Amino acid sequence: MSFWKRWIYKQRLKQGNVLNYFEQLQKWQWLDQKALKQLQEKRLSNLLLHAYRHVPYYREILKESGVITSKEQVNLSSFEKIPFLTKDIIRKEFEQLKSDDLNNREWYLNTSGGSTGEPVQFIQDKEYSEWSHAIKLLDDQWSNREIGDKQIRLWGSERDLLVGQETTKVRIGRYIRNERWLNAFRMTSEQMKEYIEVINKFKPIQILAYVESIFELAKFIEQNKLTVHSPKSIMTSAGTLYPYMRETIERVFQTKVFNRYGSREVGDIACECEHHQGLHVSALTHYVEIIKENGTLAQPGEIGEIVVTSLTNYAMPLIRYRIGDMGKWAKGECDCGRVMPLIEEVNGRVTDFFINSYGKKIDGRIFNTFLWHRDFIKKYQVIQKNYNLIIVKIMLNNEESVNPEIKFSNDLNNIKEDIRQVMGESCIVKFEFVDDIHPTASGKYRYTISEVR
Ligand SMILES: [Zn+2]
Repeated sequence: MSFWKRWIYKQRLKQGNVLNYFEQLQKWQWLDQKALKQLQEKRLSNLLLHAYRHVPYYREILKESGVITSKEQVNLSSFEKIPFLTKDIIRKEFEQLKSDDLNNREWYLNTSGGSTGEPVQFIQDKEYSEWSHAIKLLDDQWSNREIGDKQIRLWGSERDLLVGQETTKVRIGRYIRNERWLNAFRMTSEQMKEYIEVINKFKPIQILAYVESIFELAKFIEQNKLTVHSPKSIMTSAGTLYPYMRETIERVFQTKVFNRYGSREVGDIACECEHHQGLHVSALTHYVEIIKENGTLAQPGEIGEIVVTSLTNYAMPLIRYRIGDMGKWAKGECDCGRVMPLIEEVNGRVTDFFINSYGKKIDGRIFNTFLWHRDFIKKYQVIQKNYNLIIVKIMLNNEESVNPEIKFSNDLNNIKEDIRQVMGESCIVKFEFVDDIHPTASGKYRYTISEVR
């Protein structure tokens, strides 16, 4: 059965360009620095020229910034003069951002959640979608999964799950691709037990999962002393992978974690190779910049905002798009020999950064170190309401705990003191004990949120 499934899957892929693109990506990953740079510049120039000729929003911008010269040549040295693209601009300029040749393209609408919850719509085309698929195949190959190998997805997007339930076509597609989907959106103890049974029976080569969900499942397995099938790899995505999470997941599943970074707007941007020394940017499909607070390009090791230009979506080019994540370049090169730029780590959402009463920016991840190791806490979320108010939502491990304020007063006082040390002595810290902490609509779980901007 497995042989035929694989065969049908490959036949399907052959109907489009996915396998061709996959082959190209496989070759491109071994280009040397010079060849990679040349090809990247060529692909970036092609996109810019297309945007100039076919996208009203970019026509003036590219001329004014000097990227397109009077002779319609591309001058990449002016690339950094192109103003950043934001979700707000996409919302406002939606019509102007459409390419005027959409009639000749197979395109579709896609949606992503905004930072304030309101979704933003954008257009992608078939070529983009096929490139995105090819990137996934390469990332899978890095993590020991070949085309058609069994995969379990512990996935949480409401939209994806809805699509999965609604159409038979999607279900058949998953069957052919040898994928099994588990709903990561809300995981009760009962559901987690079921999931472990599914994993043990299906024996996937790879598990693809939301960081938070697979971490949750790993903790559950360990706490209940259950046994679980060990896949060849676990690919994590959609969330910040903290070192303690990686350790727990790898220990419980007895396998390696490969972290991937992507978004709905531009697809998968970067992924770890078998050496796990950072995330390689897919440099011929994505042009990535990291920008410091003062607007200049970040050097390796310096934290900044990640800005992405998708090189494959001509239907609605996203050029210098502020994706809303912070990150930094790795200082060295990866031992694998691939020279594609290396992101050391993605440090979370821009809104994960807090601002204390002295105006200093605080990396929200610090709060995790105050909370994650405490046994009585199942889930938590730290929310900055204003300069002097922090709310800590806590979901208890033992649901019957009466009066947690008294029972865990020592821990809570410690947490309070730690937070005040970072945020300032005048900061008020309030605890709220809740039944559940829900992920965002996209299924991503957020540990820290600052509402101060
Ligand atoms: Zn590598």
